[in-house]
Amino acid sequence: MTNPETSGVELPEMDLLRKFDVPAPRYTSYPTADRFNASFGPEDYASALAGRADEAEPAPLSVYVHVPFCNDVCYYCGCNKIVTRDHSKSRAYIEAIGREADLVKEKITGSTELEQLHFGGGTPTFLSNDELALMMETITKRFPLAAKGGEFSMEVDPRTCPPEKVKVLREIGLNRLSCGVQDFNPDVQKAINRIQPFEMTKATIDAARECGFHSVNMDLIYGLPKQTRASFAETIDKVLELSPDRIALYHYAHLPNHFKAQRRILPADLPGTVEKVNIMFDAIRRLTANGYRYIGMDHFAKNDDELSLAQVNGTLQRNFQGYSTMAECDMVALGVSSISKIGPAYACNPRELDDWYAAVNEGRLATNRGYRLNDDDRLRYYVIMQIMCNFELEKRKVEERFGIVFDEVFAYELKKLKPYVKHELVELTPERIIVSPKGKIFVRAVAMQFDRYLRESNRAGGYSRIA
Ligand code: SF4
Repeated sequence: MTNPETSGVELPEMDLLRKFDVPAPRYTSYPTADRFNASFGPEDYASALAGRADEAEPAPLSVYVHVPFCNDVCYYCGCNKIVTRDHSKSRAYIEAIGREADLVKEKITGSTELEQLHFGGGTPTFLSNDELALMMETITKRFPLAAKGGEFSMEVDPRTCPPEKVKVLREIGLNRLSCGVQDFNPDVQKAINRIQPFEMTKATIDAARECGFHSVNMDLIYGLPKQTRASFAETIDKVLELSPDRIALYHYAHLPNHFKAQRRILPADLPGTVEKVNIMFDAIRRLTANGYRYIGMDHFAKNDDELSLAQVNGTLQRNFQGYSTMAECDMVALGVSSISKIGPAYACNPRELDDWYAAVNEGRLATNRGYRLNDDDRLRYYVIMQIMCNFELEKRKVEERFGIVFDEVFAYELKKLKPYVKHELVELTPERIIVSPKGKIFVRAVAMQFDRYLRESNRAGGYSRIA
């Protein structure tokens, strides 16, 4: 049970931010994806799929489908996508998704009913209404939606998702939408090549409410070109007017050497570090003062939303899609560049569309990298996810689950937490590790202390900072 006293978030002073804002992984997986390697191949993935039946209680099943197509490029984008208007490409892609789903279906054991289904991208709403229906049928023919219900969601781009399409999404069985916005300011939208008037987004969200979607999520980004404290305050006003159930507020990291599209952004247009921190702090203050809970990292949820309640009850989970209320699922990921997690194994598909097609068309699983967790990984996975999701960890639970003495196994890590304790970002008691309200903003840096691979390689430079 999360301590109610730590449910709030406090913003740290600027000098503390400077001291503790270190590059740190986002821990959508442990080990992080850069540790996955090519020694894990299709046979290993097939064996993980077959191994589900060996578990005393096989985990519920989740499917993720990556739809890589986008009509236009947003200049801030770091996703794996294909910019096109050619729908012959998407029709061929849906057929290949069907072939890949067949390959997985042949190998998987345990229940194939889905408690969770998520379409991400790219832009899933690039697909036409007919293609969306076909895509859904392609999945549910092989993996039916659980009769008891579940979380069935899609990332939508209002520029390709007018109210009529929202209706189609509801009719094919989806019950959650995640709406990409980033910023409502016209100058910012121009600078990132994403013109999306407020009325357009409002029409999509209003339609979702009218059609009975259970939950609407909204994605925002701070640190974009032309953004200022004043302009983003207006964006937050508009967000509050639309009242999404959940909000993700991501940090824009300008890495033009890695992401070609970002070269179109003028460095002179980017807000400075102090301005950027203030934009983020203002947003946190406004959202938490207006009925949203700071879930962690970049996520907020209404105080009565299931995510908030799961955090209060200590049952929140984290996976490649972010935070979730679902008990830890096995996730089958379909499509180019997607990552599956089945039991203790991660399996990645190739990033290049041609490589993925070549495998699927030859009738083999496309896995080209992956990782199988060992006992130490499983222990650390649990510890890191407890800290990331619940801001605290009860040592007794870890000891009972893994048969260890916590303070002995993690003596080095507890020592590494001392600076955090000194600055009241973390509280260490004989029974617990508690991230304080002031420490919540640094939660991934706290979790990082338990990452064996970072400690061994002494490398965290490739990860993003808070500001
Ligand atoms: S941000 Fe989304 S819509 Fe824009 S180019 Fe990237 S994947 Fe496509």
